[in-house]
Amino acid sequence: MAVVVCARCGQERDGAGKVGLPGSLGAEIEARICRECWTEWLSTQIRVINHYGLRPAQREDRDKLYELTREFLQLAAPAGAVGGRGAEPPDASEV
Ligand SMILES: [Zn+2]
Repeated sequence: MAVVVCARCGQERDGAGKVGLPGSLGAEIEARICRECWTEWLSTQIRVINHYGLRPAQREDRDKLYELTREFLQLAAPAGAVGGRGAEPPDASEV
């Protein structure tokens, strides 16, 4: 098992290994996320799926889940999308 410096907890630990996610997200998790954090996400994502009512069989919901996965694991968005979700504008004055 490869050792990684985890992007989420900052510890040097055993990597998550094969996570079975497609594309760059799966590769990034395998390279940058420790097993502990990945395990934590696996139990958290069940609550997240229920909370948002996601149906991972549907592409749109799956994309949302991947986005939340990145957020939880503190992985930056893919190259080119950096800063795509910027800070809230300061004039959001509604209560
Ligand atoms: Zn970690």
